[in-house]
Amino acid sequence: MSTYSQRTRAVHAGRDDLTDLGVHAVPLDLSTTYPSRDSRAEAARLDVLGTGALDDGPPVYGRVGNPTVARFETALAELEGAEAAVAFGSGMAALSACLLAAVAAGRPHVIAIRPLYGTSDHLLASGLLGTTVTWAAPDEVAAAVRPDTGLLIVESPANPTLTEVDLRRLTEACGEVPLLVDNTFATPVAQRPIEWGARIVLHSATKFLGGHGDVMAGVVACTEEYARTLRQIRFATGGLLHPLAGYLLLRGLATLPVRMAAAAATAAELADRLATHPAVSRVYYPGRTADRPRGQMSGGGAIVSIEVAGDPHAVVAAVRVFTPAVSLGSVDSLIQHPASLSHHIMDPQIRAATGIGDRLLRLSIGLEDVEDLWADLAQALCRAGR
Ligand SMILES: *Cc1c(COP(=O)(O)O)cnc(C)c1O
Repeated sequence: MSTYSQRTRAVHAGRDDLTDLGVHAVPLDLSTTYPSRDSRAEAARLDVLGTGALDDGPPVYGRVGNPTVARFETALAELEGAEAAVAFGSGMAALSACLLAAVAAGRPHVIAIRPLYGTSDHLLASGLLGTTVTWAAPDEVAAAVRPDTGLLIVESPANPTLTEVDLRRLTEACGEVPLLVDNTFATPVAQRPIEWGARIVLHSATKFLGGHGDVMAGVVACTEEYARTLRQIRFATGGLLHPLAGYLLLRGLATLPVRMAAAAATAAELADRLATHPAVSRVYYPGRTADRPRGQMSGGGAIVSIEVAGDPHAVVAAVRVFTPAVSLGSVDSLIQHPASLSHHIMDPQIRAATGIGDRLLRLSIGLEDVEDLWADLAQALCRAGR
């Protein structure tokens, strides 16, 4: 099936058997348990499933797996060019599972590159799951690797400054240590980190993959071997994805390439216009800096951040087409103040040192008409003054 284009596969991945099943919509399996009259056979199957492996039978129990969620996992793995994917109840549950896997393997040291999403930064900085962290610039990674280093974590483009990091160089710098790329902002439509050597690709599927602001989810695309570890952890810790969320995510994936193309075109146009607006002192959008990793990302994605000269809170209060809300990746455009919301949990001094200033606003561009979005931003910026 990989001979077809990504746009075709986004529609059909995870659904290839539906015609043979004689159904059109994806079957939504809400079972928490799967009856069987043969307990001995069930015990033998649990021995296999307990290793994190998959078999052809039903899951035995909802925490072991779910057929609807498995369809989403199959589809996302295919779009990322990965062997497997494992879905979780949120992006943070997905990241937690990866950190627990590192701790369980006796490699609790993590190298991470700032900026990261605020709660990801907090989870690492707090050491809540038994990890320790070395914060490094991309060119400091090789020197930061230790025998007990279990992961290198980066977001590219990063939340909220859209900083891009050269993933190929990072994989060379970290050697045997697996590189985990949070690909939430780019999505597999604009960037496929595995092609650049990343071994683990993480998404907050709450954002673009779901795409409509009505599903909380996370997913990790990786090798089948790593997926087995993650399934074991998911089984034991319970950070499951609900089957209805799996259903909605599959629906979201079908339109992902079309949504991303439309939103990214609008975002690029708005980034250009904002760059000349007198109330905007700086625009962050991939491609606006010269030192971009070449060929890594196609297009700039659908997030634009700006530093405003006036009061950022007044801009948030004044928008009428944009939805003033945290999160991103929905069909409607959203605007939020990272220092107050997405990155509020960080230590204020570290936040500022990371480049997330008090005048920064993050815009997630949706599917509205570009002129309506521009008019809304212009009037809101005008009210906020210079
Ligand atoms: C939102 C977000 C997360 C966390 O995902 P949740 O689904 O909210 O748990 C992780 N990484 C990035 C880049 C995000 O934007």
